[in-house]
Amino acid sequence: MSLIGTLCPKCYKEEMPAITFKKSMSFIICPLCMATKSGSKWYYPSSNNLTQFIESFVSKKVKESINLQKFDEIISIKPIFSLDEPSKEIDITMTIKRSPIAAESYNEIIEISVPIEFQLCPRDSRVKSGSYEAILQIRGAKGTLSPEERENILSLIENTIKKRFKEVPQSIVSKIVQKNEGMDLYFVSSNSATKIASTLRDSVAALIKTTSKLVGLDKSTSKRQYRVYISVRIPHFQVGDFIKLDDSFYEIQSIGGGKISLYNLKTKAHRSLLVNNLWTQISNRQKKEEYLYPKEEYLHSYLVIAETPDSLQIMNMKTYETYEVQKAIDKNIVSGDTIKGFQVNDNVFLLEN
Ligand SMILES: [Zn+2]
Repeated sequence: MSLIGTLCPKCYKEEMPAITFKKSMSFIICPLCMATKSGSKWYYPSSNNLTQFIESFVSKKVKESINLQKFDEIISIKPIFSLDEPSKEIDITMTIKRSPIAAESYNEIIEISVPIEFQLCPRDSRVKSGSYEAILQIRGAKGTLSPEERENILSLIENTIKKRFKEVPQSIVSKIVQKNEGMDLYFVSSNSATKIASTLRDSVAALIKTTSKLVGLDKSTSKRQYRVYISVRIPHFQVGDFIKLDDSFYEIQSIGGGKISLYNLKTKAHRSLLVNNLWTQISNRQKKEEYLYPKEEYLHSYLVIAETPDSLQIMNMKTYETYEVQKAIDKNIVSGDTIKGFQVNDNVFLLEN
């Protein structure tokens, strides 16, 4: 056994401990979202790197709370914890490079346990108390929403929250109420409700209308408190469907940025319409049959049977009916090819691809 200076390793550890605590240490963590408190401030994790978030919080806290011997260095601080089963304390393994004055340096492993104090973060305590600033009232244009539509909308919202707010969805949306005609989503902050509404406008062409109601006075700040109601109407069309506007048929080619890109099946011209303008144009019509032609029903495949310089003989591959159409698309088509087209009664419009 080699001596460290004049001391045996055991006595050296006792005389010159690797760490001493400046103050007693405990971690304050929110049990719902794993937000951490340092001083009087709360820090929120993003949902995709919780482990890293807790590790760097622990490491920072430990460094603040301990003293090292002169010349010693921290090599690593590794907390052991499970996100799924939070325990009352966090075990931490530290590796410290000890550099005694009169001996070779060596690594010492120190194990400590730090108690966790669970406290609801301000945001989750607001959610728990049921307070909310805004309700997103999501409704289907045809008076209801199918289970698939509900699922799609919720997963779109969930992904948006994770991506844009980098937070767990539960701390943004405090409650979801399913109704026959749609869903009501309760938002802790009206700001995030507005952002989600505009995402729905941009990605599914929802129609948004916002109203707010005075609900009272905040006792502590004497500010007026408003509740925001955002009506979100989900259209029953989607990309690939066909619509009839001003007596022309269009294919919906994309929805994004609050606009809808349309392809005129007859003139082959492209145009884009603001979501709001499209809603105005179709709201005059009572029945969706008057303007909407879903792709499931109206998009067909055709086999090219014969071709002339300016026309094609095609056969609907489902009904085996044959049609003669003008060869209007800029594509080399030969007998035996299959092409897609939109068909209403006996009118067939070939698509570009
Ligand atoms: Zn929390």
